[in-house]
Amino acid sequence: MRVGVCIPGDREHATADTLALIGDCGFSSVFIECREDTQDAVGLELAEFGRQCRRAGVECYAVPRGYGGVLATPPGLRSSFLQLLPSARQIDSRGRPIDRACPNDPDFLDWFAARMADLAELLACDGFVWDEPSLFYSRGVWACRCLHCQRVYESEYDEEMPAELTYRVLNVRQRSIIIFLLAAAAAIKRVNRHGRSLVLAAPGMAHEQLHIGTDYLTRLLDSSGVDGVAVRVDWPVPYTAADRPRSAMEDIVAGMARPGLMEAEARGKEVYIWLRSTARPQDRLIETLQFALRLGIPGVVLADYDALTKDPAFGSMRPRLLATVAAAASAE
Ligand SMILES: [Zn+2]
Repeated sequence: MRVGVCIPGDREHATADTLALIGDCGFSSVFIECREDTQDAVGLELAEFGRQCRRAGVECYAVPRGYGGVLATPPGLRSSFLQLLPSARQIDSRGRPIDRACPNDPDFLDWFAARMADLAELLACDGFVWDEPSLFYSRGVWACRCLHCQRVYESEYDEEMPAELTYRVLNVRQRSIIIFLLAAAAAIKRVNRHGRSLVLAAPGMAHEQLHIGTDYLTRLLDSSGVDGVAVRVDWPVPYTAADRPRSAMEDIVAGMARPGLMEAEARGKEVYIWLRSTARPQDRLIETLQFALRLGIPGVVLADYDALTKDPAFGSMRPRLLATVAAAASAE
């Protein structure tokens, strides 16, 4: 089982010290969060960090954040693209623009492809992780009803796009995300034809419809724009350490993440769980890693570098983490 770690792509983290710690822990890959608003400002540091990763034999992935808001966006990040081109915003079912770019807007797609190609060039990385690409949906309000999306719908069904979120609308939205992923994958493969295109998704539960366009993992897996998937594994909500069942994380890995992952593996796609990670003993990171290894999960990414390494408990956890990661690597 491969174990990687996700770090913020800023001056504080893209350093030789971080890489040394990654090496000491035996992590085989690093996933670098790259923000739309800082890509240019930290470009030199990111390029140097990418070079160091290659020299150290650590696989390196970019995890773009922001970039028009089609991908998961950290709170407070305002898209410079949307400020320049507000006409590319998604239009919701009430006819109002929302602060996210429409993945069917050709100007957005051109800009996004160019930015991702720049990032691929800069980091010379092994691949990209697209974090929950989605169209807006919240409490019955959905997007997008912009002219581009209406045209896509009309050419598919030869009728006007309805105001309701019908099965046909859902279908067009899912296809829009898949076409967006094809364009994203093509952009990075023009720089490096072996560059991998992974999608990070939340595990869908049977009774829950997210209506964001990535609900059906199977459809994503069938796309040639998707070389692999990472499934987010988080603690149950509401969560307090005291009342959380001992095996909560294990339950999630086995019950929600595993079926999708096994389906992905059967299709020859790369597979990770994206694991919430801290050093606090009550969060049972080591136990969850050992459990994932026993289940035969092929890859794990520890999602919270700072919460893990800056916790006072990290020092005492480190020898066990090292031993667990080493055991996972030797079981590959
Ligand atoms: Zn649209």
